[in-house]
Amino acid sequence: MATAFPVLLTFDLDAESGALARDPANASRPVTLSVGQYGPHVAVPRLLTMLREEQVPATFFVPGWVVDHYPASIEAIQRDGHEIAHHGYEHIPPARQSAEEEEVALVRGIESIKRVTGTVPRGYRSPSWEVSNVTLSLLTRYGFQYSSNFMGDDRPYVHQSAPLVELPIQWLLDDFPFFGVVPDRGMYGTTPPGVAYAAWWDELEALHAEASRGACYVLTMHPQCIGRASRVAMLRRLIGAARNLADVEFVRRQDLAHRVASERLTSSQQ
Ligand code: ZN
Repeated sequence: MATAFPVLLTFDLDAESGALARDPANASRPVTLSVGQYGPHVAVPRLLTMLREEQVPATFFVPGWVVDHYPASIEAIQRDGHEIAHHGYEHIPPARQSAEEEEVALVRGIESIKRVTGTVPRGYRSPSWEVSNVTLSLLTRYGFQYSSNFMGDDRPYVHQSAPLVELPIQWLLDDFPFFGVVPDRGMYGTTPPGVAYAAWWDELEALHAEASRGACYVLTMHPQCIGRASRVAMLRRLIGAARNLADVEFVRRQDLAHRVASERLTSSQQ
């Protein structure tokens, strides 16, 4: 029997937290904030409808601040069977925090998710994909099962320095370089959806050919970016095309992490 090829759809629901963490002065810029508000207000309902129709599970990484401000969105995501995972509290990258500040943010995020969903998160993706030298030990101490932050492989593996499964990510499979707009950083991502589709499909097909060596396909998306109408349509096309490949399975991260941990897959990474 051929090796199953895992496809993981993940959404970082930042809402306004990314803009506020980047520059607190954005709190008095209503238009800048509205970019993030589009996520929970418009993009999440549109994405949930598409995922429901396609019967595909996903993982949503959500900062505690967003959980506290948009509990109805989190409940809707959970109601559809998707996973809610940790994405910091105020979207401040751990590398910018002291060890104490990082722990406080981690605990606040866990508490927010637990308060709204009734469950503790098992997975962690750091804001802006950067961790500190204490992140992995903190995640271990607070019972996390997996991290999704490193780019050193395209196969899941177990960290050598901590009993955590890594589900690796990659800029190529992130929507932000294609669709992210951050005017104060000169980023105006208005790439046509077809261009992102071509890049994502080529990588999917090529990694699928390497399924036997344990490769998996991890898409990182942001509702405020991918959630525009033409881009959700593109994502739906990608899901449909992936289905036509042999032995593709759509899985939530916690389910793949659980499987990897139980198989005790190890590698030389980190
Ligand atoms: Zn984020």
